[in-house]
Amino acid sequence: MNAQSVLITGGAGFLGSHLCDRLVAAGHDVMCVDNFHTGSKQTIHHLIGKVNFEVIRHDVWLPLYVEAGRVFNMACPASPVHYQSDPVSTVKTAVLGAINMLGLAKRCGARILQASTSEVYGDAQQHPQRETYWGNVNPNGPRACYDEGKRCAETLFFDYHRQHGVDIRIARIFNTYGPRMRPDDGRVVSNFIMQALQGEPITLYGDGSQTRSFCYVDDLVEGLMRLMDHEGEPGPFNIGNPSEITIRELAETVLRLTGSRSRIEYRPLPSDDPVQRRPDIAKARQHLEWQPGVALEDGLKETIAYFKKVVKQ
Ligand code: NAD
Ligand code: UDP
Repeated sequence: MNAQSVLITGGAGFLGSHLCDRLVAAGHDVMCVDNFHTGSKQTIHHLIGKVNFEVIRHDVWLPLYVEAGRVFNMACPASPVHYQSDPVSTVKTAVLGAINMLGLAKRCGARILQASTSEVYGDAQQHPQRETYWGNVNPNGPRACYDEGKRCAETLFFDYHRQHGVDIRIARIFNTYGPRMRPDDGRVVSNFIMQALQGEPITLYGDGSQTRSFCYVDDLVEGLMRLMDHEGEPGPFNIGNPSEITIRELAETVLRLTGSRSRIEYRPLPSDDPVQRRPDIAKARQHLEWQPGVALEDGLKETIAYFKKVVKQ
């Protein structure tokens, strides 16, 4: 992408901050928009003072009047713990945020990428999940605020595209982990590593036989960058790592890599927790020539090293 004005909503979050790094380093003029709901100034602290980086405290529920050539719409709490703590707010962020940022893109003639999610597939009945699958989502369960909010956002993106000609890209992001996740984020990788490092019980929900496929953050950011630059097919594209693991195996791997003597403590499985999740990334491979390159153990080692520093602080 030629140097241009890039707006990132949710830029102070886990993924957004890594995206800011990548775009600032590439010489773009980067505007990081965030209300610091789950994000933090710490994640972008090192970028403050750079001439091509600025922070705008703003809630995407409200319209925003700035000029941008590209927009990454990342704003939305992503951890079940956080998005379920204020579900009405989650729906507003997903839906009003999409409307406001699509309006901005329409006004500016900008290309806009939506951070969608594997949650649009819900508790999937097809495995692995391909982009053509319409999903199996409970519309009124505890995860619905996020799942249906993100599904409605995809609808809005395609309607703005068809009705107003807005230049859209849709990434369906699968479970991603890495440095800068919040210690209290509540998602499984950060929970298990923090618990292992502090000698606390590893909280395994259900019997641990449910599966996920974990993507390291650097791979994910590369996928988003390629999608943003991609001409033609707007998506949706699954962006994730197809290497599938049970959550029990993940707990055992974290225990081994940290050398922790924490015990595993079984807790009830949250309702509507998807049983099996793995992306089919054939479409991203074909159109974006993208696939993840970081093996789970290597990514976990980087993430453990990061959380060790956090624990010492
Ligand atoms: P995160 O919670 O770390 O980051 C979200 C950011 O959005 C935070 O900085 C938060 O303060 C900000 N935000 C929330 N509501 C806002 C609002 N109303 N106005 C302005 N800013 C707001 O989560 P993340 O893991 O970095 O996820 C980023 C995006 O990617 C989200 O849209 C999420 O749905 C999507 N996603 C992430 C994953 C993953 O595994 N990390 C998987 C699927 C989809
Ligand atoms: N999980 C767990 N212990 C935890 C946190 C999560 O066993 O402390 C499980 C959770 O029930 C789910 C999986 O790990 O089956 C992934 O959960 P996460 O919240 O990271 O993301 P999800 O993919 O469910 O949105």
